Amino acid sequence: MELLIGRDPEQNQLAVIADGKPYRLDVGGKVPNTVSRYKPAEHTAHCRILLDGEKGMRFENLNPQNESYVNGQMVERCRVLPESRIELGPDLYAINLQQIIKFVGYRPEYSIKHLSAVWREYDEALLNLQLEQQKKQNQQRLQGIISQLSMLCVIIPSVLPIIQIPSWLRAVLVIAAISMAGYFYWKGTRPDETFVMKKRNLDKEFKKKYICPNPKCKHFLGFIAYDTLQYKKGCSDCSCNYKC
Ligand SMILES: [Zn+2]
Repeated sequence: MELLIGRDPEQNQLAVIADGKPYRLDVGGKVPNTVSRYKPAEHTAHCRILLDGEKGMRFENLNPQNESYVNGQMVERCRVLPESRIELGPDLYAINLQQIIKFVGYRPEYSIKHLSAVWREYDEALLNLQLEQQKKQNQQRLQGIISQLSMLCVIIPSVLPIIQIPSWLRAVLVIAAISMAGYFYWKGTRPDETFVMKKRNLDKEFKKKYICPNPKCKHFLGFIAYDTLQYKKGCSDCSCNYKC
């Protein structure tokens, strides 16, 4: 956002033009003549302040004949903060940048493009985790089938003696079922290997990265897909706007 700040020539009040839209601040007293006028036709005033969420705020004196002071130093252009002491003209007419920012309804903008890769990485990792879990469940089902087959190998010859099942086949099935059961039990004793713990760790890392780009906020944006996030105007916690 560009702020042009100068003296309103008609009422000697402070004129603030935010992105071409004029605001007249009632500052409770007349602005001295040493503050340059706002001239709409020339698109100029005493000074200009550029507000950018990522690059910060930059002050610029718009005419070499003007005098502008930031924190007591005469300046032509410099970086400023909302709380910087800004004074215009030799009479040191003070303007309150914090008040002006609030008055014109400025919301800093921050890019969220980098969050696209963060979301994609999380989404892929979650899908892989779910597929891995599905595979484990299928293996456990297979173990159940092998156990049942080994039981059938014992039951069938006892009910129908004409059907003979080789003893080596029974032994192989029993050993396979016991081995698989032992393997799954061992896996179950390692909490870090469980789906719940892997998912918890994945979410924890995601929550550290998928945050509001405003360095003063850094609020977790939720488990919201990046495509959906683009439609949100901005962060509800710090009132910044998103740039996609
Ligand atoms: Zn925020």
